[in-house]
Parts: sequence; structure tokens; C-alpha cells
Amino acid sequence: MFIRELVPSFVKNSRGERTVQIMLVTYEGRFKVSAPSGKSKGKHEVPSYNSKGIDRSMKLLRVFCRRLENRNFMIRKIDDLKKVVEVVRRFETRYGRFGGNVTYAIESVFLKGAAADNNKEFWEFINDEVNNGKKPKMPMPVGNCIGGGLHSKVIDGKRPDFQEFLLIPKEKTFSRAATVNLRAYEYARKLLKARSRNDEGAWRTNKTNEEVLDVLKTVAKKYKLRIGLDIAASTFYDKGYYNYKNKSLVRDKVDQADYVERLIKKYKIFYVEDGMQEEDFSGYKELLNVVKKGTLIVGDDLTTTNLKLVRRAVNGEAINAMIVKPNQIGSIIEVRDVVNFCKKNKIVMIFSHRSGETMDDTLADYCVGFGGQFLKTGIFGRERLIKLRRVMMIEKSLR
Ligand code: PEP
Ligand code: MG
Repeated sequence: MFIRELVPSFVKNSRGERTVQIMLVTYEGRFKVSAPSGKSKGKHEVPSYNSKGIDRSMKLLRVFCRRLENRNFMIRKIDDLKKVVEVVRRFETRYGRFGGNVTYAIESVFLKGAAADNNKEFWEFINDEVNNGKKPKMPMPVGNCIGGGLHSKVIDGKRPDFQEFLLIPKEKTFSRAATVNLRAYEYARKLLKARSRNDEGAWRTNKTNEEVLDVLKTVAKKYKLRIGLDIAASTFYDKGYYNYKNKSLVRDKVDQADYVERLIKKYKIFYVEDGMQEEDFSGYKELLNVVKKGTLIVGDDLTTTNLKLVRRAVNGEAINAMIVKPNQIGSIIEVRDVVNFCKKNKIVMIFSHRSGETMDDTLADYCVGFGGQFLKTGIFGRERLIKLRRVMMIEKSLR
């Protein structure tokens, strides 16, 4: 693959913050990748940018990109990406770190270009099954319907303490599932009398966790959906205690696990992400032990797409499912290793957007290509819909 041009730029994400985009021009075409940005980030994620900030990362990236122009990279399979990684590492050792958002964009845009160079769709290029002659299975969407926590501004001083109240269809096709979620989301707006959306397009409300779950239960029943939660427990945890504001009370580790278990039973919850704070492996284990196989106990801040942490969580029986966010680790090679580990250990994978998203649909290709069982995005908003539409297109192309 001959690099004719490699051009970095700033673009704005859905929160209006600057993020990095890279455009690659080869003889096959033009390819663009931009990085999303998190707000309720895991403590063990790699830093998004150089320690001196995004401007420093951009300065380095401009130099790096100029140096790579007119060079040739032979990338026939995902493993060949290591050649690019080596060049990145050497540059970073000499001049300083880019940060995970930047390395994510570099590796992804090279993979995109390489897929075209090999006459393949991006998802197809990284998918083992299709390369062995099998049809990939489409994921199901996990849609953020009602929001609280760090992603939502308060209404009259209040918001739910949990970050995300999710709807999860079980349909034959992804297209049908995404459509059902959209109808259910509209119905939820009516029941809530909601008037505004949060960072991820979920409805804002001042209701308590339980009041929202009551609404979600009605919605889920009408549309035959499963209920999920991203508790994002670390965002309201401090020195041994979970500090609830709506309604105001403090829970210790035992109370927190007990509360989550009670909610799972009462509302027949199918999916619980980050029910305990991000370093409490034994707390997750306790949850998993109680639910056995019935509910997905999902690591996000716990695992941060980091193979070491994923191994610890899986070997310690703390999770049966995990979030994959490529820019948490900033290396697609490591994402691939995490994916292979999950497949081997039958851990369910949920490929996920970030709260600050761009008009980039690469996540959909990663999800289908790497065999994720679920794709987590907002249900509404152009940055979210573009990813849902990309899966629909892939699904259609396989019919
Ligand atoms: C999440 O916690 O699942 C999430 C999407 O948050 P953020 O992107 O803000 O880290
Ligand atoms: Mg999360």
C-alpha cells in the first residue's frame, strides 16, 4: 500500500470537543478515521493524548504523517499492522507519546486503506470466519434509552445516579432490532415526558434509578426487549463508599452488591455493566456468582480493553461479558488479542461507542469483523445512527 498522502486534522465530536482525524490517500482511494472521546473513563485506560495535551499530540502527528508519505507498507492481514506499530513506537521513543486516541486513529486508518488494497471490506479484512468461508453473525444493538450520571446534566438539581438505562432487542436481524429500539425510545419519551437528550442522545430525567427502571420495564414489555444498565459505579464511588445523590444515601461494598442483586431480580435485568467500582474484582465476582448465567456481568472500567486486566477478570470469574472500546487501549493489535482471548473463554463482547462520538462508522466494522455479539451505541443522534446504519448495510450485503 503506497502512502500518497497522510493528513491529520482536528474535528469536533458530538460534545463539541476537539478530536483527531487522519486522512489516508492511496491509489485505491481516500480513507478517514476520527477518534471518539470518553468522559466517564476507566482509571486504567491509556491517556488519550500526550501529557502536554492534544495540541502537542497534533504537532507530533503532523511530523509523523509527513515522514510516512511516499512510503510503502505491505499489509496483507491484520498481523502486518505490526509494521506500522513499530514505526509508531520508534517515533514515540524519540519524540514523545501520541496518546491512545491518536494511535487508535493511525492504526485504524492504515487498516482501512489496507482492506481496500486487498479488495476487501474493512470488517471482512479483519474477520477470521469469512476468511475461512463462513458468514459472520450480526450483533444485536444495546441502545442507551434513558441517561443519568456523568453524561447527563441535572434537572432541578437531580438526575438518576446510574449512567445508562439500556434496551436490548432479540430479533432475527439487526435492522429490525434497531428499528424496534427506536420505537421503544419514542415510547419512553412519552412515558417520561422527556424534553431533552444527554451526551449520548438518551432521554434526560430527574427520576430516581428505580423510577426509571419502572418506566423501562413498561417499555421493554411492550416491545419485547431486554433491560440493561451501565451503573458506572466508579463515577460515584469514593474511598470505600458509593455516594448516591438521588435519593441521598451511602452504600458500602456489601450494600452495593446487595442493591444491584435486588434490582437484577426485581426488574429481570439481562445486562449489568460496571455494577461495582473499577478495582473491585471480588465485587464483580460476587455479582456473577449470584446471577450465574442468566445475566451478563459486564466489565468496562474494570477491564479497559487491556489484556492483562481482562485475563485477571476472566480467570478470577469476575465477568462473563466485556466492553470493547478500541481507544481505551489505543492498539488494534491488542484489541485483536483481547478478542481472541474472549472467544477462547466464551466471554460475550460488546463493542462500544464513547460518549463523545464523531461521524465515523469504523466501530461497526470492528464489531462485525471481530465477531462482537453486541454493538452498544445511542439509539438516536447522527453520530450513533451512522454506526447502526453501517451494520445494516453489512447485513444487507450478506443477504
Ligand atoms: C461508558 O461508560 O460505557 C461510556 C461510553 O462512557 P465514556 O465514553 O464517557 O467513557
Ligand atoms: Mg461503561
